[in-house]
Amino acid sequence: MYKLAVFGNPINHSLSPIIHTQFAEQTGVKISYEKILAPVDDFISSATDFINNGTNGFNITVPFKLDAFKLATKLTLNAKTAKAVNTIKIDGDKLIGENTDGAGLVNDLTNNLNIDLKGKIILVLGAGGATQGILLPLLNQQPRRVMIANRTAIKASKLKHDFAKYGKTCGFGLEKIKHNPVDIIINATSASLDGKMPDIAKGCANGAICYDLMYGQQTPFMNWSKANNAKMTVDGLGMLVEQAAISFEFWTGKKPDTKSVIDSLRS
Ligand code: NDP
Repeated sequence: MYKLAVFGNPINHSLSPIIHTQFAEQTGVKISYEKILAPVDDFISSATDFINNGTNGFNITVPFKLDAFKLATKLTLNAKTAKAVNTIKIDGDKLIGENTDGAGLVNDLTNNLNIDLKGKIILVLGAGGATQGILLPLLNQQPRRVMIANRTAIKASKLKHDFAKYGKTCGFGLEKIKHNPVDIIINATSASLDGKMPDIAKGCANGAICYDLMYGQQTPFMNWSKANNAKMTVDGLGMLVEQAAISFEFWTGKKPDTKSVIDSLRS
């Protein structure tokens, strides 16, 4: 029996227990997977209690990914470059920190949506934790360029410098986005959570694939994309399931089928 959990605050809305229970049924692995609401200012005590009671690992969601990065005693390359951890595996006395968000996004784009990222111009909106997690896996797909645009321009410039060694990047403020169409726009801002759309030039959506990391509803970004002639408009549910699948395999060694889980959550 694998004893697993997800930590967050809030955590009630989390779909992770449903997703991991379906993975466990498919693969014949026995798991318990609970949601744990940690105090905003004391994730470390909650996580330490859970670890001391015997666990195989856990997921970490908003707002604790940075705390989990500090808690981990060993980091994968993804976690190190993202400077954030969403998955911890207990291995003897080691806490191995991984970040599966970016690989989850890439798997959704390439396997589920059949989009080849090689040679593409990708515009990423936002420069927060999610963007930090997706940049390396995106650059590993050898796009022509990844443009990072953020409301606070300096954060985008910093990420451009941090990730320049992995591929062609540029970073600037949202107001610098031109009307020239790009191949793919990824909304990695949290604007949709507030019912808002980042203020950007409309022309860049023309013929583009537009992907919002947020899931569960028609977001303002998705509505904006459709109104501005996007080729395809997608939410982040597939990414959520794909990042969970990578965590599940990281803990159990078993690779679950994701398509059936995505279909069941969409129905
Ligand atoms: P952060 O709080 O770390 O970063 C938020 C970013 O959004 C910043 O770049 C901020 O800009 C920008 N922003 C916020 N409001 C606006 C606005 N009104 N206009 C323009 N820019 C805005 O959040 P995360 O990076 O952790 O998360 C971003 C999104 O990704 C969330 O919606 C989250 O739910 C989603 N997500 C989805 C996952 C999935 O599996 N589908 C996985 C991980 C995240 P500034 O720097 O100027 O403040």
